[in-house]
Amino acid sequence: MNNATHFDFTFPIFIALALTAFLYFRRKMDPRLKRRRLVQWIILSSVIFAGCMVWPIKDWKFAAMLVPTVALIAFLNFRILRVCDSCSSIQRGTMFDAFKKERYCTGCGKKLNL
Ligand SMILES: [Zn+2]
Repeated sequence: MNNATHFDFTFPIFIALALTAFLYFRRKMDPRLKRRRLVQWIILSSVIFAGCMVWPIKDWKFAAMLVPTVALIAFLNFRILRVCDSCSSIQRGTMFDAFKKERYCTGCGKKLNL
C-alpha cells in the first residue's frame, strides 16, 4: 500500500465526481434549482480537480499553469451547459455554441436562457 501513486487516489475521486453528477443531474427538478446546483457543481468540481492535481505535486509553476486552464474549462462549461426552463433538461452544446446568441432545447424546442 506504500506504493500508492497519485493516480491511485485521484482516479476514484474523479470517478465518484462524475458518477455523482450523472446521477444527480439526470433527475427531474425545478429548473432554477438545477441551474444553481449546476453552477455550484462546476465550481466545486473545478476546485477539487485543481486541488487533486496541485496538492500532491506542490509545484507552484505547475499550479500557475493549471489554475487558469481549469478556470477556462469551467468558464466554457458555464457557457456551453444550459438548463431548459420548461423541461429542466441540461442541454450540452458544442464549443461553437458557447458564444451563440440564441439556442433552443432539443427536447421541447423552447428558447434557452443564456
Ligand atoms: Zn426543454
